[in-house]
Amino acid sequence: MSTTSTTSSDATADRPIGLATPISLTEPSGVDRAAHHRLDEAWLAAAWSHPTTRVFVVSGGQVLIDDTADGRTELVMTPAFEAPVTETHRYFLGTDDDGVSYFALQKDTLPGRMDQSARAAGLREAGLLLSPRDVGLMVHAVALENWQRLHRFCSRCGERTVIAAAGHIRRCQACGAEHYPRTDPAVIMLVTDEQDRALLGRQVHWPEGRFSTLAGFVEPGESIEQSVRREVFEEAGVTVGEVEYVASQPWPFPSSLMLGFMAHATSSEINVDGEEIHEARWFSREDLRAAFESGEILPPYGISIAARLIELWYGKPLPKPTH
Ligand SMILES: [Zn+2]
Repeated sequence: MSTTSTTSSDATADRPIGLATPISLTEPSGVDRAAHHRLDEAWLAAAWSHPTTRVFVVSGGQVLIDDTADGRTELVMTPAFEAPVTETHRYFLGTDDDGVSYFALQKDTLPGRMDQSARAAGLREAGLLLSPRDVGLMVHAVALENWQRLHRFCSRCGERTVIAAAGHIRRCQACGAEHYPRTDPAVIMLVTDEQDRALLGRQVHWPEGRFSTLAGFVEPGESIEQSVRREVFEEAGVTVGEVEYVASQPWPFPSSLMLGFMAHATSSEINVDGEEIHEARWFSREDLRAAFESGEILPPYGISIAARLIELWYGKPLPKPTH
């Protein structure tokens, strides 16, 4: 296999130095996206009918997951011949080192439950339970589904588009335009000040006590560093100097890529905007430990990179409530 004809399999973990906990949705999946097969209809047809091929259904951002006898949770996959056929909504996701090909089928509903423990789950739940391989397959399929759903019409001429390249292109049959999946960059940053305190904020719609890093979308014509500085100033009134990239995280809700930073404040007075951020505070490590342990502050939860950025500053896994 030549290096120019395939995407590389993500064999190495992109985990920042000093980070003990993996960033959800980013662990090496062991699946090569094998993009060079996407336009090869004969290869795709052969792969689809191969007995080792595995298929799962994605519907509205959800998949079926199931618990195994040995206590793991896995994506429910079947051979292609057992899968409900919808040729026009088939996504080729890649192959693994054993030559197994993986496909997702986009459907309006998930298949009926196969047994009592199989259940529907979105990425926020499944991302914490599934193996890196299954998470990698799921996040790819969910991202494609979100993009397909929102790009059924040509943005150039307004006519209907059709799926192509095994789910990775939408083509306009009227004007010939090819549309590729879009990814919207967003920045998420842990701001620290001269005393090495961390700035955490509470979004307006979050429950009382839930604090996390600041975040926002990159605007047109803006570098990501400029975006970090603008967002922090808009949301908290704090000015930022040096900006240091840490890691990224796919965030298909519906189509973002989170770019994680450490940002160094050059001012410390807080002035929240009140629209996105309701409250923001500086925390020393001791403040944070006490607030998390007492339950006064709820740590960021779930799959977001936010907790990993805070952990990187904190220097060890985040403390949990002691009661
Ligand atoms: Zn068109």
